[in-house]
Amino acid sequence: MTERIIYLDNNATTRPYPEVLETIQPFFEERYGNPSSVHQKGRDAKTALDEARATAAEAINADSPAEIVFVSCATEANNLALNGSTKQVNGTTPGIITSQIEHPSVLETCQALEAQGAATVTYLTVDENGFIDLADLRDAINENTELVSIMTANNEVGSVQPVQQIADICKENNLLFHTDAVQAPGKIPVDVQDPNVDLLALSAHKFHGPRGIGLLYKRKEIDLPPLLRGGGQEQETRSGTEPVALAAGLSTALDRATEQCASVSDHTGQLRKTLWRGIRDRFGDTAQRNTPGSNSLPNTLNVSFMNKAADKMLINLDLEGICVSAGSACHSGAIEISHVLQAMNVSEEAAKGSVRFSFSHENRMEDVHRTLEVLGEYAP
Ligand code: PLP
Repeated sequence: MTERIIYLDNNATTRPYPEVLETIQPFFEERYGNPSSVHQKGRDAKTALDEARATAAEAINADSPAEIVFVSCATEANNLALNGSTKQVNGTTPGIITSQIEHPSVLETCQALEAQGAATVTYLTVDENGFIDLADLRDAINENTELVSIMTANNEVGSVQPVQQIADICKENNLLFHTDAVQAPGKIPVDVQDPNVDLLALSAHKFHGPRGIGLLYKRKEIDLPPLLRGGGQEQETRSGTEPVALAAGLSTALDRATEQCASVSDHTGQLRKTLWRGIRDRFGDTAQRNTPGSNSLPNTLNVSFMNKAADKMLINLDLEGICVSAGSACHSGAIEISHVLQAMNVSEEAAKGSVRFSFSHENRMEDVHRTLEVLGEYAP
């Protein structure tokens, strides 16, 4: 093992910013009140929760803090959005349009709704760069369609969808637009007015916040039936005593990630460029880039090393202190071909050799050089 761990798996999770830890700490010491309690401890917690909500709302340009629903993670936010935003009208089954490359928290929720007869779902295909075709979206809309759910950016390959145009098409057709924007904060701008979205999911641990909290942005006109019923917290949309510490940590992280987005994106973009050039120099055509050259998350590089087993490379890189992922970390452990690469028509052989490198502000150019040195051992 080398001394310093080179962590290149920031699309899986991130290290919390130091100020997030500072923000959280007092809530496990003196500020332990329940925001529903009327005494001073409760009022103090309520103030902190209100502040966290206001900061989060401002960071994504929401009209009002009331549009922020704190939930446990983006998986819950996606479930809440999809389960609640379609309804049967006069016996017709509502329609949802999504894509084949969504995170399982969207895909499996859609499949469950179909199985219950609660929705019909169209899964849009993507091209070889991981982009949906807007003409396909238009074609898929019919009189029963109520909701379009397309991710802002893909976690495995980093393709950034044309969300502005998707939002426009939804508006023209009077459809709700939900976007899983989990991979966006700190990498590309997140602004719920531009493009105009109705529902948006985030998870704090993806942008250097704490694990165990996410949010669903919900435009104020939208009423969602809760998944969790009980005390009516979070505007009757998500019951359960609010994790004030985590909400405060989320808002600190979102604020900082948003503020530093441009400079961090420049930095990670440089690292990615050097890494890809170095891989091309060493591997030539036996390395295939799965991340699109434009309209992609600047921190993400997904590469297929032909005739190599990515899971074995991952273990060997790990032994050298370099953390990467083979396919999506959300399915770690399972050596199944990524549904994203399959949808992009990547061959089975290339998909098995696919490694994802994902940078953060913490990475340095020397991390890239060291990674290239270790990768060089695999060069043909
Ligand atoms: N959506 C995307 C695009 C993701 O990358 C992830 C996690 O990898 C999720 C949703 C789910 O996030 P969480 O596991 O925090 O619920």
